[in-house]
Amino acid sequence: MTQTPLRVSTHPLYLIDLAGDRPMLACPACRTWLVVADGMLPPHRSDHQPDQAERDKTAPRRPRCVASRRPVVLDLSPSTWSSKFAIGVRDAGMRRGNRVFADPRSESSPQVPVPTPVFRLRRA
Ligand SMILES: [Zn+2]
Repeated sequence: MTQTPLRVSTHPLYLIDLAGDRPMLACPACRTWLVVADGMLPPHRSDHQPDQAERDKTAPRRPRCVASRRPVVLDLSPSTWSSKFAIGVRDAGMRRGNRVFADPRSESSPQVPVPTPVFRLRRA
């Protein structure tokens, strides 16, 4: 069964990890993190629950994920990915409240010029 190749550049940045030696990405179908091997997603089962650290071993194994062996086109270089990802992280950080919590010390004790230490005073 042939599947349409997954172009990494069209995959959400936060579901890609190109920082390591081997490219990793979260499966578009089941969100399982997979190492891209031989230009494709390795065969895997879609029994991964993102909110569950470990699979329920008593449950019957689910069939293979539909995205198993889906070809992956790595059309995003690690440097491009990391810079784009860094911008995304920065934007996410900027979405937080912009209230500034001033250091109360700086308000109650405004900057006073520090006198020159005695040992620095030159003798005339
Ligand atoms: Zn999958």
